[in-house]
Amino acid sequence: MSTRGVAILGSTGSIGTTALRVLARQRERFHVAALTAFANAALLEEQAAQTRAPYVGLVSPEGGVGSWARGASCLVEASTRDDVDIVLNAVVGSAGLDATLAALGAGKRVALANKETLVMGGELVARAARAGGGELVPVDSEHSAILQCLAGRSGGDVRRLVITASGGPFRDWSRERIERATVDDALQHPTWRMGRKITIDSATLANKALEVIEAHYLFGVPYERIEVVVHPQSVVHSFVEFVDGSVIAQMGVPSMELPVLYALTHPERVHDAGVPPYDPTELSPLTFERVRWEDFPALQLGVEAGRRGGAQPAVYNAANEQAVASFLDGRIPFGGISRAIASALEALRGAPGDTLDALRAADQAARAHVKEIAGC
Ligand code: NDP
Ligand code: MG
Repeated sequence: MSTRGVAILGSTGSIGTTALRVLARQRERFHVAALTAFANAALLEEQAAQTRAPYVGLVSPEGGVGSWARGASCLVEASTRDDVDIVLNAVVGSAGLDATLAALGAGKRVALANKETLVMGGELVARAARAGGGELVPVDSEHSAILQCLAGRSGGDVRRLVITASGGPFRDWSRERIERATVDDALQHPTWRMGRKITIDSATLANKALEVIEAHYLFGVPYERIEVVVHPQSVVHSFVEFVDGSVIAQMGVPSMELPVLYALTHPERVHDAGVPPYDPTELSPLTFERVRWEDFPALQLGVEAGRRGGAQPAVYNAANEQAVASFLDGRIPFGGISRAIASALEALRGAPGDTLDALRAADQAARAHVKEIAGC
C-alpha cells in the first residue's frame, strides 16, 4: 500500500516536533515529503536525516545544508509538490498565509495549526479551498473537538458551539496584578507546553479570540452562536449543542498528539495516537467558569473585530503579533498588549479587506502602528 506524503511547515516548533513524533508511529500510512523551518538549521538537519524528507527548506539564508531550498518561498514550494498529499501548516503567525492558500489551490488537505492564517484571510482561504478542491482540517484542539462532535452533521442542526479555555496563568489574578505581569509569569501556562507566541496569547486570552474567528470560518457558524467558557483542567476540548438541546463534548488528556493525528486521518480513526488512557477519576473534578471579559480585554476586542469583518480580523491579528513581540522584548507591559491592539483597530477602522493585497496592507499598517506605540 502506498503511503501519503506529508509536508510539515514549521517542523522545528512545538506542533512540528509533536507531528514528527506522531508520524514516526504511523509509517505504514504516511511519509514525510517536506520539512521547513525559519532559522533553526541544526534541528532541521537532524529531522531531515531522520525522516529522509526529499524536500527541505529554510526561510533564513544563514546556516544549514547547501542542497536546501531558501527563503520565504520555500513554504509555498513545499506545499504544492506532487508528492505532498497533506500540508501540516505549523508555522506561527501570518507568515503562513501564502502556503495555506497555495496548498488549498493545489487541491491538498491542509491540516491547520496556523490559526492566524484563517483569522487574517478567512474569506480568501475558504474561496481558495472551493476553487482548488483543497480541504481544511483543524489541528487546534478545540476545533478538532468540534469537528469530532459534529461527526458530519450540518450547521443547521447546531444551536451553539462552546469553546473551552484553560483561562491561562492569570485566570485568578486581580486586574492590577495582570497589568504588571512579567514575561516569565506569562510564559507559565498551566496545562499546555507550546511556542512562546501562543503561550502569551493564552495569557491575554487573545488566543480564544483567534479561535472564535477560526471556528466561525471553519464551521460557518455565526458569531452570536459561538461562546467561550473557562475550563481550567483542559480535559473537555469543546462542546457542540444541537437544536434539540443535546450537548456533545470531546474529552481526553491535554495532548496535541491526538488532534495532530486526527487532522491527518480524518474522518478515519487509527490505532496508536500515543495518548495516555483517559481516567475520569484521576482527572476529576472538571470545573467550568464564566470568562472575566472586563479583565481580559483582548478577547472582546478580537470577537468584535471578527464580527465587523473586512480587514478588522487581519488588523487584530497583526497588531497582536507585533504587541506580543514588543512585550517579549520588554518594550511594553503586559496590559499594553490589549491597549495596542485596541488602538490599531480604531486607527484602521475603515481599511478595506476584500483582496489579498488589501489584507497585506492592513497587516503592515497595524504592525507599524503598534511599533510606533512600542517605540521600536
Ligand atoms: P513554535 O514557535 O514552537 O514554532 C513555530 C515554527 O514555525 C518553527 O518551526 C519556526 O521555525 C517556524 N517559523 C517561525 N516564524 C516563521 C516564519 N516567519 N516563516 C516560516 N516559518 C516560521 O510555535 P507552535 O508550534 O507553538 O505554534 C505553531 C502554530 O500552531 C501557531 O499558529 C499556534 O497558534 C498554533 N497552535 C499551537 C499549539 C501548540 O500546542 N503549540 C496548539 C494549537 C495551535 P524556527 O524553529 O526555525 O524558528
Ligand atoms: Mg486551542
